[in-house]
Amino acid sequence: MHINVHTKVQTAEQTEAPIDPEHRLRGAQWCPSPFWDERPAWAQPELLVVHCISLPEGQFGTGYPQALFTGQLTGDEHADFGDLRGAEVTPHLLIDRQGSVQQFVAFDKRAWHAGMSCWRTRRGCNAYSIGIELEGSIHTPFTLEQYDALGDVCAALLRHYPGLSVDAVVGHNEIAPQRKQDPGPYFDWCGLLLRLHQQLSNPRV
Ligand SMILES: [Zn+2]
Repeated sequence: MHINVHTKVQTAEQTEAPIDPEHRLRGAQWCPSPFWDERPAWAQPELLVVHCISLPEGQFGTGYPQALFTGQLTGDEHADFGDLRGAEVTPHLLIDRQGSVQQFVAFDKRAWHAGMSCWRTRRGCNAYSIGIELEGSIHTPFTLEQYDALGDVCAALLRHYPGLSVDAVVGHNEIAPQRKQDPGPYFDWCGLLLRLHQQLSNPRV
């Protein structure tokens, strides 16, 4: 289901915040992953990390990313999956090509999505970040539905977690430049930031 925070909050249902007391996004499908632990005591969400994934590369709607993130991918499903055997990775959220959102880890927990990483001299970004995967490839444009959903999700997160800010939304490539290229050159940062500024400058939402 495509969540639209903007519309939802402007209806009479003012009482329902987009993020519930268990740090889950309302409207997202809950698909619990085993690949998380507690954030360090000092850490709160300060950074949003945008990723992309497709399994196999360039193929969408396969369900394999969700299987990977929930520990259900054996590695035998496809010849390209050998490196993924035993991988313990998951973002907090995955946004598929239709803009539907799935959540794997509660936002107050540390999801294992960034790996070796560094942001503004601070290593280990998983401790203080929220990871969002887009179903996609660094070789392919993303869909309008994905940008709309991502804008809604990021705006909701920025409103809910005071440590987050618009200037702390980065690509995986920015915090692990030696290893990672995602979300890649097709990702429209201007489009995302425009959506964020529009939503966050509206005092009614
Ligand atoms: Zn990534």
